[in-house]
Amino acid sequence: MSTEPIPFIDLQAQRDRLGSRIDEAIARVLEHGRFILGPEVAELEQRLSEYTGAPHVVSCANGTDALVLALRALGVRPGDEVVVPAFTFAATAEAVALAGAVPVFVDVQVETFNIDTDSVADALVERPAVVGAIAVDLFGLPADYPSLRRVLGGDRFLLADAAQSMGAGVGDARVGTLTDVTTTSFFPAKPLGCYGDGGAVLTTRSDVADVVRSLRVHGKGTEKYDNVRIGTNSRLDTVQAAVLLEKLAILEDEMKSREDVAERYHRLLADVAEVPRVPDGVRSAWAQYAVRHPERDVLRGILDRHGVPTAVYYPRPLHLQPAYTGFPRAAEHLPVSERLSQQVLSLPMHPYLTAEDQERIAEAVKRGR
Ligand SMILES: *Cc1c(COP(=O)(O)O)cnc(C)c1O
Repeated sequence: MSTEPIPFIDLQAQRDRLGSRIDEAIARVLEHGRFILGPEVAELEQRLSEYTGAPHVVSCANGTDALVLALRALGVRPGDEVVVPAFTFAATAEAVALAGAVPVFVDVQVETFNIDTDSVADALVERPAVVGAIAVDLFGLPADYPSLRRVLGGDRFLLADAAQSMGAGVGDARVGTLTDVTTTSFFPAKPLGCYGDGGAVLTTRSDVADVVRSLRVHGKGTEKYDNVRIGTNSRLDTVQAAVLLEKLAILEDEMKSREDVAERYHRLLADVAEVPRVPDGVRSAWAQYAVRHPERDVLRGILDRHGVPTAVYYPRPLHLQPAYTGFPRAAEHLPVSERLSQQVLSLPMHPYLTAEDQERIAEAVKRGR
């Protein structure tokens, strides 16, 4: 068996596959010189709209800004409360606070790691200030939007934080259309990543798209030097859009490879660890392949000694993070989030992972049983 180090995410393999296409795409931008909102930005928004089926796509500077811009376009105001899962990346709750509102933490489901509809229902009791919720498609798996929509009722918004799930879907519907407003991130390690920071808001609502387009350029009106609201500077660089166009062209093929990698892990590991399960009809983007293990840190040490890199997303749920302990939560304890943060371990996951490396990884996991 090979003893070469196994990368956790192999961006170099992707770059090798794309060959000179990325270099040429960047060279074209250097040539035309329209570095801000150049033609590649509009083309990327168009292509993302075609790929996802979302009628409106507005790119921006990063996935955190995408959340803040979407919340502001949805009309979130100081004093409003927004329900968020406790087991997610900090940006989900941070964006609510940055928009001037109050995050209300709820628990997640043990099988999917995604926001738990029953916990959302608990949070709504006697909280008239709740104006909506953010569901995160954690590790690439779409949340349960239909049941969330039912408990939220018609008047509260349901925003999808799809930073980790571009390319995923439910039945024939792709992420970007599973609820009326979705945000994503193009951070390099995400399923669709650029070579820097980037993000986007995808929506079925033209009113939301219009406000986000204005907010990302200092609250502009129809003219650039016409300021109709307090906005910000949050544009996607043309160079990053050019990179993303090349990567989007192979995303669907990469999704299939990720699914093959996930299936192989399932076959190799289902008897030795708690492997992720995907509900029927749902497609994960497999941003992470996270197993659960009662002795996670012991297993992690064993894998490390066998040259298998791992990561822990997330070692502490947000309601227990110093910056967020003061915010409300559905209950004193959010037991599933608290337990998962002790038990989850992400294994190497990317479209170019070989069967041989996966077998090496599985052998090491078996030693940790
Ligand atoms: C990465 C991520 C974000 C933030 O994206 P950035 O582009 O890094 O700002 C938000 N939410 C989730 C769930 C993420 O994984």
